[in-house]
Amino acid sequence: MPARNKIHYLPERIEGLADLALNLWWRWDRDARTLLASIDLDLWRSQRHNPVVMLRTCDPARLAELAKDESFLAAYDSVMERFEEVRKSGGRWFREQFPDLDGRPVAYFCAEFGLHSSIPIYSGGLGVLAGDHCKSASDLGVPFVGVGLLYARGYFDQTINLDGWQMSSAVDFDFERMPLSRLTGPDGSYRLTRLETAGRQISLGAWELLAGSTRLILLDADLEENHPDDRELTHTLYGGGGEYRLKQEWILGVGGVRVLRALGIEPGAWHANEGHSAFMMVERVREKVQAGTEWADAVREVRARSVFTTHTPVPAGHDVFPQDLIRRVCGTYHEGLGVNETEFFELGRNPGADDGGFHITATAIRLSRHINGVSRLHGEVSRGMWQSMWPGRAVSRVPIGSVTNGVHLGSWMSRAFIGLLDEVFGRDWEKELHTDAEWERVAEIDDERFWQAHLVQKLGLLTFCREEARRRWKRLWREASHLVGAGTLLSPQPLTIGFARRFATYKRGDLLFRDEERLRLLLTDVKRPVQLVFAGKAHPADDEGKRVLQRVWHATRDPRFEGRIAFIEDYDLHVAHRMVQGVDLWLNLPRVPKEASGTSGMKAALNGVPQLSTVDGWWAEGFNGDNGWAIPRVNGSAEEVDNLDHRAVFEILERQVVPSYYERDERGIPLDWVRRMKASVIEAGKHFTMGRMVAEYAEKYYAPALQGDGEGDDLPVIPRLTDALAIAGD
Ligand SMILES: *Cc1c(COP(=O)(O)O)cnc(C)c1O
Repeated sequence: MPARNKIHYLPERIEGLADLALNLWWRWDRDARTLLASIDLDLWRSQRHNPVVMLRTCDPARLAELAKDESFLAAYDSVMERFEEVRKSGGRWFREQFPDLDGRPVAYFCAEFGLHSSIPIYSGGLGVLAGDHCKSASDLGVPFVGVGLLYARGYFDQTINLDGWQMSSAVDFDFERMPLSRLTGPDGSYRLTRLETAGRQISLGAWELLAGSTRLILLDADLEENHPDDRELTHTLYGGGGEYRLKQEWILGVGGVRVLRALGIEPGAWHANEGHSAFMMVERVREKVQAGTEWADAVREVRARSVFTTHTPVPAGHDVFPQDLIRRVCGTYHEGLGVNETEFFELGRNPGADDGGFHITATAIRLSRHINGVSRLHGEVSRGMWQSMWPGRAVSRVPIGSVTNGVHLGSWMSRAFIGLLDEVFGRDWEKELHTDAEWERVAEIDDERFWQAHLVQKLGLLTFCREEARRRWKRLWREASHLVGAGTLLSPQPLTIGFARRFATYKRGDLLFRDEERLRLLLTDVKRPVQLVFAGKAHPADDEGKRVLQRVWHATRDPRFEGRIAFIEDYDLHVAHRMVQGVDLWLNLPRVPKEASGTSGMKAALNGVPQLSTVDGWWAEGFNGDNGWAIPRVNGSAEEVDNLDHRAVFEILERQVVPSYYERDERGIPLDWVRRMKASVIEAGKHFTMGRMVAEYAEKYYAPALQGDGEGDDLPVIPRLTDALAIAGD
C-alpha cells in the first residue's frame, strides 16, 4: 500500500487535487491541466508544470478561496468525475477487443521511463517511448503495470564549459518534489523483497508512479539496511562500468519479478522492452522449476507469455557480460534453475559471436515467443543480425517481427493543434484511435488558421530560448557570448530548422558543417535566411560524441553565422516539447541503417513540422512524398556516404525546402508549405501514434501472450538443454 500522501493540507472540498497531482494523467488531459494551471499560474510556470510542488508551495489563502469559488468547483467536479473513471480501468478499447481475457495485466519492464520532466529517470528515446507506452496503455484500457528502477540521481545534467566541452553534473533528487508514493509491505516496512547479488543479500523497496490506469513500480535499493555500496546500485542510469550495469539489470529482472509477487500483482504476460530486463524471464523459469515443473516445460511456459522488443541495430548497444562477472554477480543462482553453471551460461550464448560472453539479447530471444524490432527496416536488420539463433533457417523465416514505434499524441501535440483538430474529431478525441478517413479530413482545415497555429508555437519556442538564456545568465554564466549561443538572436521570420537528439556519432550532428562556407551562405541569405536550433547530450563516456557537440557549440558563437545557430543546453522532455512544436522543419541525419526507428520526427510531424531525413528507421515507411523530404540511400565507405549525404542535404535545402517555405500568397501564407504540414499531421496521425503502436502490440503479441499461446515451430534453440524443444529447421 502507498505510504502517506505528501500533499496533506488541502481544504476538504478540493482534497482530490492531491490524487490528481500524483497521477500524471493530468499531463495529457486538457481540462485537468487547465484546472491545475488555474490554481496559481505564476507558480505553475516557474515550477515547470510540477503540480506537486505547486500545491505544496501555494498560499493556503489561495486554496481556501478556490474551495469556495463556484466556477473552479464546477471544473474541479467535472475533472474529478472523469479522473475516477480513468483511474479504475482506463479507456474501453482493450476490453471491447478482447472481452474474453481475464484482466491479468501485462508487466512491462524497462531500464528507463520518461513520463514527465519532473521525474528525470530516462536518458533518451527508449525511456520516452516507454513513458508514452504507459500513457497509451491507459488510454486504450490495456491492463498494464510498468517495472523500472528509481534512480536517485537520474541520468546527468548537461552544462557546457567555455570551450564547448560537455560537463556532467548530478544532484540527488528530492523525491518529495516528484509524483511518487513509497510502497510498503504487509508488515509496514519499506523492504518488499530480497535478492542475492555478488554474495550479499540486498533488500529492495519500491515506489509507485501513476499514469492514468497504469501503475509503474520503481525499484529502490537505497534502503538503510543495505551495504553502502549496494545502496548506490539504483542511483544512476547507465552509470558505472559493466559490473554496476549487470547488477542493475539483475535487480531489475530478478528483483522486479519478486517485487511484483510481493505486491500481489499476477501478470499474465511479460514484456521486456530492450534486453536490460532479460533476467526477468530467467527468474520466472526459476520460479517454475522450484515449483516442480520440468526445465523444458518451464522454459516453454515462460516463452509463451514473454514479449521481447529489441531496440538497436548497433552491436555495441547490446550488453555482453564476461562469464566471470556473471559468476561473481549471480553466484549460485543457477542451482535454483536445476542446471549447472555451464548450462546456465548457454542461456546467454550468442552463436553469431562466439566470444564466450553472456549476451543479454540472446537470453531474451531464447526465452521469448514474441520478438520484434521497432520499425519495418529494423525488423529486417534484426532478422539478419540474429539469424544464427535459428541455425539453418533463411533470414526471411527468422521469427522476429516488427512493430513500428509511435508517440503519445496527447503528450506531444501542442494544445494549439489539438484545439484546431477539434473541428475534425469533435471534443476529447485525442485519447482514442481514429480511422484514416478521419485523419484525411485534416487537409480541409483552413490554411490560414493552420499556419497561425504553427506561428504561435514558433514564437513560443523563441520566447523559451530567451527566457532560458535569461535564467542561466542570471545564475550560471559569466560570458556574454553564451547569450548568442543560446538563441537570443533568433528571429520569428526565418525558416527555422530543429536538430535535437543524442550526440552519438552515427547521428551526424555535424554533417551540415562539412562545408562551412556553404552553410554560411544558406543561413545568412538576406532575403531568405535560415536558422538552426540544436539540442542534445552526448553519453558521458563518448568523447567522440562530445567532439561533435563541441563543433556545433563553437559554431553558435561564430560571428560568421550571425547568431543564426543556437544550442539549447540540457535537452530533456521539456526542451523536446518546445522544439518539436516550434521549429519549421525537423532534420534527422543518421547513417543508414543505424537508427532503429527514431521518434522525435514523429513528434514534430504531429505538430505539422515536416521532416528532412535519411531514409532510415520510421522514415523508410513514413515518407510519402508530401510530408517532407528524403535523402536517397547511397552505398560506400562511411566517408563517401557522409560526403554524398552532405551534398544531398544542401541540394534539397537550397532547391526545395527554402523555396517552398518562402513562397507566399497575398496573405503571407506559404501554401505549398502548409500542404506539407498537413500531410505530416495526417501521416503521423494514421501510422505513428502511440495509440496505433499499443493497439498493434495488443493484437499481435499481448493477446496471444495473455492466453499463454506457445504454439508454433519458431522457438530458438537452447543448446543441449532443450532436446524436448527441438525445432524444425528449414
Ligand atoms: C523523443 C525524444 C528522444 C528520442 O528522439 P530520437 O528521434 O529517437 O533520437 C530523446 N530524448 C528526448 C528528450 C525525447 O523527447
